[in-house]
Amino acid sequence: MDSNKTMASIDPVKYSLDSEFKFKCHSGLACFTKCCRGINIILTPYDIIRLKNILSLSSEEFLTIYTEPQLLEKTDLPVVTLKLLDDELKSCPFVKDDGCLVYTHRPTACRYYPVGVATLNFKEGSDADEFYFFVNEPHCLGFEEDKIWAIREWRIDQGVDIHDKINAGWADLIVKKRSFPKNIMLTEKSKNMFFTASYDVDKFRQFVFDSSFLTLYKIDDATIEKIKTDDVALLEFAFSWLDSILFKGEKVTVNKEEAERRIKK
Ligand code: SF4
Ligand code: SF4
Repeated sequence: MDSNKTMASIDPVKYSLDSEFKFKCHSGLACFTKCCRGINIILTPYDIIRLKNILSLSSEEFLTIYTEPQLLEKTDLPVVTLKLLDDELKSCPFVKDDGCLVYTHRPTACRYYPVGVATLNFKEGSDADEFYFFVNEPHCLGFEEDKIWAIREWRIDQGVDIHDKINAGWADLIVKKRSFPKNIMLTEKSKNMFFTASYDVDKFRQFVFDSSFLTLYKIDDATIEKIKTDDVALLEFAFSWLDSILFKGEKVTVNKEEAERRIKK
């Protein structure tokens, strides 16, 4: 799971969805849960929603207790990583001797492992193309098992295809920002908006419904009704809104009359 810590052991080949690999992870292996310690896991927006809901926390509470801020390399965008325990092995807060406490709701990076996906992890190479790579950690005995997977099958088996589908708008924002010339920087305000809309879903909902947001933007009634309670719908709306304010995307448009009225005022 640790893309940063194990860069040295990353196979530099770019793999596709049809690439095959031999792997099986199970509790009978001597390495069981070793990969859940000393790690650096970047959390995606959908990871936060799943984890905060299963732990019955608000997004703000989850972010405070379980995450640490980080700037994503080559983008300068704020992301969060899972905050590790202060024990000798720097364990994940959710790892127990018999496995992962939040397994059904585990983060995207944990689902992908031992595969890595370029959008979030790879420091070199093409900015536009999506590709996969392998994290070959010496302690991981899963590669010695006989089960053969195509990366395409692995993604479905691990449920990561659903995560990627929901996070797709967010991944697009990262790829767009990464393709910007280095000297074009986002303002602190823009970075804060990116952070709140991506990760702090409860605060973003408050911003949408408790400010003049709904008069400034043209949003249809069905969407308004849905994002009142549906975290995933709100997240997908947030990605479209970020795209419109940061990259001139056209999925969320401004109500021109209201904008002009504000300018005059
Ligand atoms: S969330 Fe679960 S699978 Fe991921 S590192 Fe922690 S214990 Fe391991
Ligand atoms: S086989 Fe690899 S992924 Fe599975 S528990 Fe062992 S180290 Fe972790």
